This record gives sequence, structure tokens and C-alpha cells, in this order.
Amino acid sequence: MPRRTKIVATLGPASSDPGILALMIAAGVDVVRVNFSHGSAAEHRRLVATVRALALKAGRAVGVLVDLQGPKIRIGKFQEGRVTLLAGAKFVLDAGCDIGDENIVGLDYKNLPKDVRAGDTLLLDDGRIVLGVSSIRGARINCVVEQGGILSNNKGINRKGGGLTAPALTQKDKRDIKLAAELRADFLGVSFPRSGADIRWARKLMRKAGGNSLIVAKIERAEAIAALEEILDASDAIMVARGDLAVEVGDAVVPALQKRMIRMARDKNKAVITATQMMESMITNPIPTRAEVSDVANAVLDGTDAVMLSAETAAGRYPVETVAAMARVCVEAEKEDTLGTERRRADPPTDVEEAIARATMFSTNSLNIKAVAAMTQSGKTVLLMSRMYLTVPIYALSSVTETRRRVTLFRGVYPIKFKGARDPEKALIMAEDELLKRGAVKNGDYIVFTIGEPFGKAGGTNTMKIVKVGELRRA
Ligand code: PGA
Ligand code: MN
Repeated sequence: MPRRTKIVATLGPASSDPGILALMIAAGVDVVRVNFSHGSAAEHRRLVATVRALALKAGRAVGVLVDLQGPKIRIGKFQEGRVTLLAGAKFVLDAGCDIGDENIVGLDYKNLPKDVRAGDTLLLDDGRIVLGVSSIRGARINCVVEQGGILSNNKGINRKGGGLTAPALTQKDKRDIKLAAELRADFLGVSFPRSGADIRWARKLMRKAGGNSLIVAKIERAEAIAALEEILDASDAIMVARGDLAVEVGDAVVPALQKRMIRMARDKNKAVITATQMMESMITNPIPTRAEVSDVANAVLDGTDAVMLSAETAAGRYPVETVAAMARVCVEAEKEDTLGTERRRADPPTDVEEAIARATMFSTNSLNIKAVAAMTQSGKTVLLMSRMYLTVPIYALSSVTETRRRVTLFRGVYPIKFKGARDPEKALIMAEDELLKRGAVKNGDYIVFTIGEPFGKAGGTNTMKIVKVGELRRA
């Protein structure tokens, strides 16, 4: 069984070189994340073109996740680039301040004074600096430093407990959605959504721009936890965005939330990415810590579709080694099949494709079935099948490039480029040959085929066929 859990790697200065990127893809990257918080449109275009060219050369489908910056609130710049804040000192946040010092700094969100109250706690730089709000005077937020340290330019601010009113899409995000559509991004990451409506808004703008990326809702606000059901219903996938989420809800709450989010996503037939600091120490070290190995393995055991690397591959010293280490940990964790018992689902299927997916799931537990071969146009059936913890690989055979790129995110699903044939019998033999060529099956094994009939026409999967390898040819 090939590795089931997918690896998302964030690109950045450490991974923009085509030689390094090729090695990362070879080491197991399934999806690249292009972080729109950094870089210009020209840089993003070039990066995506490089990824697509390398994937083609490697004969692999690699998905592209465009991650919008979202309304991340940031402080302005300091005269010296950074200051040291001492606990107990007074410190002012003021959107009107141009250049900061030990006493005051600017803000890129003018409404922050309206969103906070005396007594609130503000967390800067992922919680490394803690400010207590003592009073609001017009545009000035007067604070007392509760936890000091070094604070440098443009660090992020979160309010403990959430509650900031900034809408999920900024003017920049709206422009960036157009760029994502132009780039044919396979996935669009929406940062800091508060509701299902935020996700529907992003999808509408994406459609209007002529794109059809799958929408990934990043769960990183306290409000998003309360609205998880409706956010899931509106999106195609979620990201357990542990970085900002931990700052808003408290770090100790996140591990249990991760398990809940993964379970809920799978139950609602959505995909899920577990993100942030998974291999953090590999930014500077060639091997992960025991705790990091456990973290990645536990996300796999929770049932995540994908695990994500951020600064490790964007800015770290060991991008290729980190991907390889992550892949190795996933494969080992997958051998402990804690999810096998969940294969049976009580609620009845709601449509034909789901019924076929269920039938496939039950069949793979019997006979000598070694592979599922799904002839798919949209990838919908393979998503449904991969929600059910099959113990055999699901090969997504598709002539549609975009479909092959999207299924890169789904656990246990492997895209195969497949032209097909007019004659259904011939198509099945061709598909069988593909699996034989890959060593996925041998003579005498069984394959479950799922097909949409009439053959070669667009439309949903409605047929399931169990074939013994070698028998099609004999018939
Ligand atoms: P970010 O999102 O890396 O874009 O901040 C992930 C997170 O907050 O965990
Ligand atoms: Mn974030």
C-alpha cells in the first residue's frame, strides 16, 4: 500500500529553486501551498508554472493550494526594525502612528479600537508578546505589557477569545481570488472565515472570476469553532490552522479540537488538512523531535487527509529532508489501522454515487480485492470512497487534468492519467493494464471498478464491477 496520507508543502525562499522543488516532489509532496501573504503576482505566476512543469516531468499530479492572506491584523514598523518590551511597561497601539518605538506602534486595521475593550488580552507574534488593554482613547489602544520580549516589524495581533469584526476577504484577497482563478488553482484557502456565508462569498467571487478551485476553510478563529457545521457545509475542505487557532482559543484546547474537526469533516464528506508546526524544529535541524514525530503520527491516526509543512519548507534549511521525514512517519502510522472499525456507516446513502461508494467499501473487505479503480470525471466518487477508510488503494483514473490534481488531497486516493476507450470492455482492459504496470495488482487478484454508464459520457458514477485480473482478456 503506498502512503495514504497526503503532504502539503508551503513554498518560499527555501523551496523556490526548481532543483530543490523537484527533489521535494520526488520525496513525496502531493500539494504545494502558495502563501499569498508574501510575494508578488509575478512571483506567484512563476512559482505555479515551475511546479506544474516539474510535476509533468515527474509524471505526477501535484495540486496547487493558493492560500489567501485574509484579515490578519498586523502592527506597523519600528524605527529600528524591532524593540524590546519589558513586562509592566506601557505600550500604545495606534493606527495613526507611522513609525514605532518602545512606547507606541502603528496598526493596519483602523477598527481595532472599536473591537477591543479595557480588560481584553491582545496576543502579538503568535502569543510571544502579551498585552493587557487598559483603556481606549479614540484611535489609541493603551496597553500594559504582560509578557515582554522582542517585537519586530509587522507581527500579527490576535485578540484572546476572538471577536474581531474584520470581514474574511480584504480588498487584496478579492484581487488575489482573480489571480487564483487565472492560475487554475486546485484549492483556494480562505483565511479567518467566521461563517458559512464567508465561504460562500469566496466561492462566488471565484466562480465570477472563472475559476472552480475547491474551497478550503482555514479554522483559525474562535468564532469558526462555533460555526463549524455551517462552515463545513459551505466548503470542500477545512484546515486545522493550529497557529492562529491556538492563539485565539488557547493552545491546550487545540488537540481535542483537531480530533473533533477531523471527525466532523470526514462525516460530512469533506477533506481535512492538519497544519502548523508539525516539524517545526526541522527549520534548523536535519531530524525531527520525538514530539513532532508523534504529532504527525497522531494526525494520521486521527484520520486527517493531509499533513502540512509551513516554515519548514518555505524558509527552513532542510526542505527535502523534512518532506522525506514526514512521509516516513505517515507510512508507519498508517500501519496501525485504528480507523478500520469506522468502515461501516449507519446512515443510508443519499444519492447514487454514495450508494456505489458504499457498495465498493463493503466489497473491498471480501474476496482478494487489491485495488479500487474509479473511472471518474469529477472525482466525487473517489472522495466519497476515501471518507470510508478503505484498506485498499483507490486509483482515480481520469482524463481530466484538474480532477487528477484535486484528488491529490484525498487520503488513499492516487490519480492516474487515463484516456479510456469508446468500448467499455477495452477501457477496463486498459485500466487493468495500468494497475498491472504499477504493480498494484497481479494475475488472479480482484479489482473493483466504478464506472459511469453510458460509457465515455459525462455524468455520475452508477456502476460497480468486480473483475478478476486476467479474465477480461480471456472472455
Ligand atoms: P497561516 O495559517 O500559516 O496562514 O497563518 C495556518 C495557521 O494559522 O495555523
Ligand atoms: Mn493562520
